[in-house]
Order: sequence, then C-alpha cells, then structure tokens
Amino acid sequence: MTASKTMGEDLTSVSSAARTDGRKEPVAAEAKTPVPHVVVVGAGFGGLAAAQELGSAPVRVTVVDGRNYHLFQPLLYQVATAALSPGEVAEPIRKILRRHRNITVLLGHVEDVDTDRREVRVNGKPLAFDYLVLATGAAHSYFGHPEWEEIAPGLKTLEDARRIRAQVLLAFEQAEMEDDPQERERLMTMAVIGGGPTGVEMAGALAELARLALARDFRNIDPTKARILLLEAGPRILSPFPKELSAYAERALQKLGVTVKAGEPVEDISHLGVTVGGRLIPAATIIWGAGVAASPVGRWLKVETDKAGRVPVAPDLSVPGLKNVFVLGDAALARDEKDKPLPGLAQVAHQQGRYLGKALLARIAEGKPMPPFRYRSRGNLAVIGRNSAVIEFDSIELKGFLAWMLWGIIHVYLLVGFQNRLLVTLRWLWAYLTFQRGARIISEGQVGGAARNLARR
Ligand SMILES: Cc1cc2nc3c(=O)[nH]c(=O)nc-3n(C[C@H](O)[C@H](O)[C@H](O)COP(=O)(O)OP(=O)(O)OC[C@H]3O[C@@H](n4cnc5c(N)ncnc54)[C@H](O)[C@@H]3O)c2cc1C
Repeated sequence: MTASKTMGEDLTSVSSAARTDGRKEPVAAEAKTPVPHVVVVGAGFGGLAAAQELGSAPVRVTVVDGRNYHLFQPLLYQVATAALSPGEVAEPIRKILRRHRNITVLLGHVEDVDTDRREVRVNGKPLAFDYLVLATGAAHSYFGHPEWEEIAPGLKTLEDARRIRAQVLLAFEQAEMEDDPQERERLMTMAVIGGGPTGVEMAGALAELARLALARDFRNIDPTKARILLLEAGPRILSPFPKELSAYAERALQKLGVTVKAGEPVEDISHLGVTVGGRLIPAATIIWGAGVAASPVGRWLKVETDKAGRVPVAPDLSVPGLKNVFVLGDAALARDEKDKPLPGLAQVAHQQGRYLGKALLARIAEGKPMPPFRYRSRGNLAVIGRNSAVIEFDSIELKGFLAWMLWGIIHVYLLVGFQNRLLVTLRWLWAYLTFQRGARIISEGQVGGAARNLARR
C-alpha cells in the first residue's frame, strides 16, 4: 500500500465533518456533522500533549508526523552510547492516541502551509484545517558550516543515535586492528562539541562506555585509555545552571576521564579532527551538541523569525496576523511574564501543548477567550554519569547520588508507555549492577557509513 493511499483512506474514513468556513474539503469526504477540524503537525512533546488534550472531545483532530513514533529525546544519548535500544525511547504515535476515536494519525511529511486556503501540504496533497497547531521542533544548526554535519553528527533523531553508536563502537574495533600508534590514538579520541546538558551527558556516557563496559573486551588496545573531550565555546559548561553546579559537573567529568575545554570556540572540523585555538586535535569521532535551528515553520507561514528560525507567537501561542494558527515548542519564540524567551525544553513544549489543547477546546466548545500561557519551570536537570547528576529547582540545588536517583526516577516517570518505563528501569538496574551495556550492536547497514566517517582524509 502506498503512503498516499494510506493517507487518503485514513482521511476518508475519519472524515465526519465539513470545514466550518464553508469551503469544500479537498481531501476528505463530505461531512455530516460540522465539528471543527484541528490539524496538529508534529507529535513530539508539544504536539502530542495538545492532541491528547483534544482527545475524545467534540472536535476532529488530525495528527501529522513524518515518523510513526513519538521520541523521548532526553534519553537519546543512551541509545548513542549503547545503554538503551531505540525501541525503548520511542513509542508509536498511533498506539499512544488509539483510544481517542476523534483523532486520526497520518504518517506524512508536511511541506508547506497555505494560510489563505487554510490547508497544509502533506506528501504533496492538501489537508484542510479550521485550526492549525504547528509543533515541528528544531534541527541542528552548524553556525554557517553545513559541511560539518556529515563529519560531526548531532543527536536529534533515532537515526542519529544509531549512527553515532555504530561509529563509536567501530572506532574501537578499528583501533584494535591498527598498528600505527598515532592513528590508533586518533581512533580512540572522541570529541563532543557543546557543553550544554546533551554534551555533558554524551561525554560522561562515552567515558563510562570506554572505562567500564568495554574495559576488558579487547586484547590489543586498552579502551580505558580512550580520550574523551568536551569542547565548549562559552566560559563554562552547563551555563544555565548555577556556577557551583557547573563546577561540580566539570570535576565529576574529569573524574570519569573526560577532558573539559571551555572558553574557546571550535574553528574547524575535518576528517582529521577538530581545530580549537589554532591547534588541530586529531579525533576520529566528533559529535555535535552545540546549536539548534527551528524547523521551517517561519518559511511556511511567511512570517519573520528570530535568528534561530523560531516564529514569534502571542501569549496565547497564536501567530500574530494569522487566524487560528498556533506554533509551540522548539519552533516557537514564546516569552515569559518578564519578556524573556522560553528555553527549548521538553517541559516547555509539553506545558504549551497541554495549555493549547485545553484553551482551544474551551474556545471552540464554550466560546471562552484564550488566557495567556504561563510557563512553570520544573527545574533543570543534567546527568553526568553513574551516581552523579545536577538538579536546580527554584533555590534548591542538588548534586551527586541523590540528584542522580531523582534524575532517573523523573525520566522513567516521563517516558511514554508502561512497557518502556519497565524496560528502561530493568536495563538501568542491570547496567548498574554489572557495569555492562546491553545494546552494543553495529548493524551491517551502518558499517560502511561509519567506516567512511572514521577514515582519515
Ligand atoms: C539529545 C537531546 C536531549 C534533550 N534533553 C532534554 C532534557 O533533558 N530535558 C528537556 O526538557 N529537554 C531536553 N531536550 C529538548 C527537548 O527534547 C525539546 O525541547 C522538545 O523535544 C521540543 O518539543 P517539540 O514538540 O517542540 O518538538 P519535538 O519533540 O522535536 O517534536 C517535533 C515533531 O515534529 C515532527 N516533524 C518535524 N518536521 C515535520 C514535518 N515537516 N512534517 C511532519 N512532521 C514533522 C518530528 O518528526 C517530531 O516528531 C533534549 C533535546 C535533545 C535533542
């Protein structure tokens, strides 16, 4: 069955409503009951929460996503470092939303939005909406160096995580067979660029992989001698955290064997390594955790964005000048009461999604005006490694074992799906007791690409 056929069939089967603006529905069949049609693009943290709030309500909802699963990005680094398997951090969108008969899920790629005709283009076909919620997240930004992407993958998708995992594991395999000591050292050097939570978590997990899980498995190399670098352009790592917690994180990373270099931006990335402060550091594996840019929502809507590509939104998350079009999550530039931009965090997107779902429903069903969105920070968290994490919540600062335990409990709680929660808990328990990683697989299809990226050129 082709994708378009699936889409057409799905739309027809659920299409029980005409457009409230009186135009003819372009794809869906004629309607019987005039309930408004809400199209939600993106089933990440924001879109999924909005759709769930609209579930089983007197509206027709279509959720469109380019992939068939909701991804729990905060644990992606564990897939990239062989601690978890891809399926444990992802859950099919269709399964999450199946109990809501008013929600249709479409696996499709949105290419554009026609705000005059009130249609989105999905896989080349128009899909009409009365209300549009755009929650398409962000991608990596290489600060004007798109050529770096091929060499230094970022961590945003399951594909990215699998690619990084294959490359890291293959680097050790190639080092085991390498006679030239310099090349062996290059293969066993891994540089993580960006000292935010993702970079810190990634560097810590790589160090643990090398020093604990792989330590006794090789004969010609000593994996515990692998060099892990964390490179940050700003003056310190974990800059959103209080100074004391970022200093603790740096010490904890150093204890794990990670070399932290802050205060100098990366000048170049090549197949030889990274250049910082005019000096080339030979490294075969380079991981990008530095910049993000919003998805092309601004282009679709033909509105001005900020430098990161985010669409400025009103306090009710609507796009000024466009009727019934809303943007949320990483794609939106929303501000708090003090006019400070909200950060690109899962908790922001999730709260916005819940707010928007509820507020839209109250407006549609009861004609209530939409109140402004208010963000309530649930704190900042970052894990460094076994027994060590940092948490900041209001005036409370936690570090070490207690913070690590809390980090684990919170992440298991936030994972979508009971099965994933159970599997991740068991995996972590096993890893904690045995120091092992359960997902050390290099799939055949990825060997070629990983080997090409590791090669010195
Ligand atoms: C590695 C990593 C670790 C992170 N760790 C944390 C953390 O610990 N704590 C925290 O609060 N935040 C964390 N974040 C940030 C958090 O994941 C994001 O802020 C959050 O996912 C944003 O939610 P969203 O709904 O805007 O977008 P996303 O969750 O990214 O969802 C966007 C969805 O839109 C879909 N989509 C995109 N374009 C299209 C299109 N054209 N057509 C159809 N579908 C499309 C995508 O497939 C995706 O499902 C992390 C992010 C990363 C990458």
